[in-house]
Amino acid sequence: MNSNVEEIYPGIYKFSLSIPVPLKAINIYLFKGSNGWTIVDCGFHNNESETAWLQVFEELNIKYNEVSQIVVTHYHPDHYGGAGWLQKLTGAPVILLDLEKKNIERMWQNTTFASRKKQFYLDYGIPEDIALIIEDEHIRRYEAVSPHPSKILLLTAGDEIQLGDYEFKTIWSPGHTEGLMTFWSEKEAIFLANDLVLPKITPNIALNPDSVPNPLNDFLTSLRKIRDLPAEMTLPGHRQIITNLSKRVDEIIAHHGDRLELVTNILKSRQESSDNVVSAWDISKELFGPLKEPIQHRFAFAETLSHLEYLVHSNEIKKMQTNNKYFYYI
Ligand SMILES: [Zn+2]
Repeated sequence: MNSNVEEIYPGIYKFSLSIPVPLKAINIYLFKGSNGWTIVDCGFHNNESETAWLQVFEELNIKYNEVSQIVVTHYHPDHYGGAGWLQKLTGAPVILLDLEKKNIERMWQNTTFASRKKQFYLDYGIPEDIALIIEDEHIRRYEAVSPHPSKILLLTAGDEIQLGDYEFKTIWSPGHTEGLMTFWSEKEAIFLANDLVLPKITPNIALNPDSVPNPLNDFLTSLRKIRDLPAEMTLPGHRQIITNLSKRVDEIIAHHGDRLELVTNILKSRQESSDNVVSAWDISKELFGPLKEPIQHRFAFAETLSHLEYLVHSNEIKKMQTNNKYFYYI
């Protein structure tokens, strides 16, 4: 028996699947319905995940052809990775938002993206050795998101979707990714938040090549949109269930307010001491301090960039380009 699987609400099951990144695990939700099972999110595709999935199918007594849909909340490899493999196993369609389908094609099905990502971060001042690690990490992810699903159904914001026997409304919630979707069941007062609202940690808000110009602003707007939902249970993509949605949303919004202030202060003090302009890398190092694993540099750096760009867009700081490199100043 896998003690990991729990029924958190009649017909809704949650299990924690290991992922090979600092977050360590993702929450997978399974909805049992009269028209079959719905899987929400998939984990990375690797041997360990396959074993875990097969165990869960056995434990919940799910026959492969009883899976009627596989919902992928966003394109990140811990959510999308196993989708194609699960589709091969079950024959079920993979459901996502149009924007995320484009992201998948752009990032996971185009092998030039890894080197573009490296160049993008180099332009913003990241050192060459770390840029190479980031490129290599992306290349290694191609395997963890393969095979790709062939049968994809697209959802549109506002669409009703049945998860198990419950009706949910699809809410487009950009910020963490452009096409992240969350789901709200008014009748059951359940909010399926995946990576929009997490307990204890805050979702990574990153600036990437081709991403929208101000993802942090999108994220804060998405949070405000769902803040007052009368949710009794909020189901996050990682860690434990949230019982007080508006309180957690307020904490996350306040956290970003603090970070924006900190970024501005770092920039000010650097300029007062000597530098006319400062690179995003220098700010990131000061903001996050020493980090244990190289992959954390990417999260930290991309998050720093999203804060810097937010401040540029609200005219609080300025950005300039010299010798093909970007710098920030006040
Ligand atoms: Zn994510």
